[in-house]
Amino acid sequence: MFSYRHAYHAGNHADVLKHITLIATLQHLMQKDAGLTLIDTHAGVGLYRLDGDFTETGGEARDGVVKLLAKLLPAEKAAATAPLVVAPAIQAYLDLIASYNPSGLLRVYPGSPFVLHHLLRAESRDKLKLFELHPTDSRVLSANIAQLEAGRQIAVARQDGFESLKTLLPPPPSATGSRRAAVLIDPSYEVKTDYGKVSACIQENLKRFATGTYMVWYPVIPRPEAHDLPRRLKTLATQAKRPWLHATLAIGQDPSHGIGDRPGLTASGMFVINPPHTLKGALQAALPQLLEILGRGKGQAQSLDTGG
Ligand code: SAM
Repeated sequence: MFSYRHAYHAGNHADVLKHITLIATLQHLMQKDAGLTLIDTHAGVGLYRLDGDFTETGGEARDGVVKLLAKLLPAEKAAATAPLVVAPAIQAYLDLIASYNPSGLLRVYPGSPFVLHHLLRAESRDKLKLFELHPTDSRVLSANIAQLEAGRQIAVARQDGFESLKTLLPPPPSATGSRRAAVLIDPSYEVKTDYGKVSACIQENLKRFATGTYMVWYPVIPRPEAHDLPRRLKTLATQAKRPWLHATLAIGQDPSHGIGDRPGLTASGMFVINPPHTLKGALQAALPQLLEILGRGKGQAQSLDTGG
């Protein structure tokens, strides 16, 4: 437990899929005036230096956000023989990354708490609740959030995100009387019991608050629990009569890897319950472009499925 540090993975292909889905979902939810409760059950530290030790070691952003930016920078696009029209969901993600890197160089990567902070609306209409259990990472997260001077709009707790979620749902009514919440569940799956905890958490919280938007990230790896998770989530959503969306992105094997090298994560998925009706179209346009840019070898694929 606690050997996982997201800093090694910040900005990789899985973060790209997760954060594009998160932004596209929230941008739609925020078209309505009523305030939202945003909950990030597994927050990480919030902000990652891409020139620091962790990311130099892992270098995973190179196969993620770095590659995407290199291909989609305005100068690159202009020089291309057949200029690519960037999918709006990818553009919104790149704009958000750029807002944290005003020098134009990619120095920091915003994790989900900073992605969510960027989207929060003023006048404390929306509230953000962050949970992080790692002793060091929760301290770093609190320090990073303190710098935003967001006051009571953002709360950080060193608590179990799975357990704490139920204490926040259903959310308090907004000024207009409606109760609205969006939840990101993004465990490290360091221990295989996390898979069961995700399904149990979704099952319990759908009963508490059926209309919330729940976004679950999971790794696509050859492990029965990982394979079963989207199937279980589909069953839970269907039993609760809620619509769902399931997107996966597989960038394929790294051709430079030798025989016996550990391959690292090559694919991941996002499962969204009660997705905005616009999310399917947004990802339909974004996923093929992501695959074209980030795909690197055998096993590249993307998929998008909806139901309910
Ligand atoms: N959501 C972050 C982002 O997109 O930038 C990344 C989160 S990372 C994949 C998962 C985090 O969950 C790790 O920082 C880990 O320490 C933390 N964690 C593990 N178990 C937890 C639990 N039960 N409750 C809250 N945090 C937990």
